[in-house]
Amino acid sequence: VVLERYIEEQPKETDMAIKMGKMELKASKGSGSFLVKNLYLSCDPYMRGRMRDFHGSYIPPFLLSQPIEGFGVAKVLDSDNPDFKPGDFISGFTGWEQYSLIRNTWQLRKIQQHHSLPLSYHLGLLGMPGFTAYVGFYEICSPKKGEYVFVSAASGAVGQLVGQLAKLHGCYVVGSAGSSQKVDLLKNKLGYDEAFNYKEETDLDAALKRYFPEGIDIYFDNVGGAILDAALLNMRIHGRIAVCGMVSLHSISDPKGIQNLFCVVPKRIKMQGFLQSDYLDKFPQFVEHVTENFKLGKIVYIEDMNEGLETAPAAFAGLFSGKNIGKQVICVARD
Ligand code: NDP
Repeated sequence: VVLERYIEEQPKETDMAIKMGKMELKASKGSGSFLVKNLYLSCDPYMRGRMRDFHGSYIPPFLLSQPIEGFGVAKVLDSDNPDFKPGDFISGFTGWEQYSLIRNTWQLRKIQQHHSLPLSYHLGLLGMPGFTAYVGFYEICSPKKGEYVFVSAASGAVGQLVGQLAKLHGCYVVGSAGSSQKVDLLKNKLGYDEAFNYKEETDLDAALKRYFPEGIDIYFDNVGGAILDAALLNMRIHGRIAVCGMVSLHSISDPKGIQNLFCVVPKRIKMQGFLQSDYLDKFPQFVEHVTENFKLGKIVYIEDMNEGLETAPAAFAGLFSGKNIGKQVICVARD
């Protein structure tokens, strides 16, 4: 799956195309590379940023007409790298293609299968989005038991774990999502105390006042835009806002901007952006914490699995209209 052209507007399925090509299924001697068969691929909103012809971000644009790069789970078939042997399973940057030749091992991990959770979980619950929830909540939000927590895009890959970590921490948690089905999942599967469909609210400020009559201590912001603006009005003194992402801005060609930023001064709000990749030393403790709680049934996980590499463009575009229910993953092959 390749990117056909750089885009400024909301991603569409037709911005990507399927191309056939041949590759040699072996790692050449002395290259340090290894060849993998891709099993599961991840659709992540940050990839939208790589579809712009813009070089000033923390990660460069995709190369046109080359397989799209993204997180995947794969099986090593042939290797010239002593750290990765045929038969190993890995998670990390691979390509949106059936086989990938890997040289760059940044954020690449060998999957330890002793906890025997499904391999695809290493793209969500036990992968980059889960880790984002973990560092965003514990490192950026400085949570305390009993605090009032609000999460947007709450049923998505990151949001679903933030809410559950906050519940385990003894917080009161409310989530917003874009459909009644997602609201139902938040309340009845993911353990949120309350949830609402932001698309049905004509006044987001009033909605937050309804769910947080005493105000919000922590806002975990996955979306930016109008929801962030309303949250600012409802923050308590010394509240914290973890700015994780601004997925709503990807689909707006002329964003109105935030009107209520002044609230950070009188309310002494701490508002901080972060990148999960700055905290990689904490990855082992994250995996242990989440695996343990998952096995105890204290954490659940919702995955949205599409079958076949050819479904990736539509699945990716669907992230920006809320089509995915839980973590969006593509199954390329099962083994
Ligand atoms: P999700 O699985 O939550 O999928 C994206 C969701 O965003 C959609 O399902 C939709 O849910 C919601 N959405 C789409 N458009 C809008 C809109 N206009 N307004 C409000 N909500 C919208 O994605 P992730 O959990 O993977 O990512 C969540 C956020 O975390 C993103 O902003 C992403 O960029 C960020 N992120 C940040 C990282 C970091 O290191 N800082 C790392 C990983 C992710 P709904 O139906 O509820 O609207």
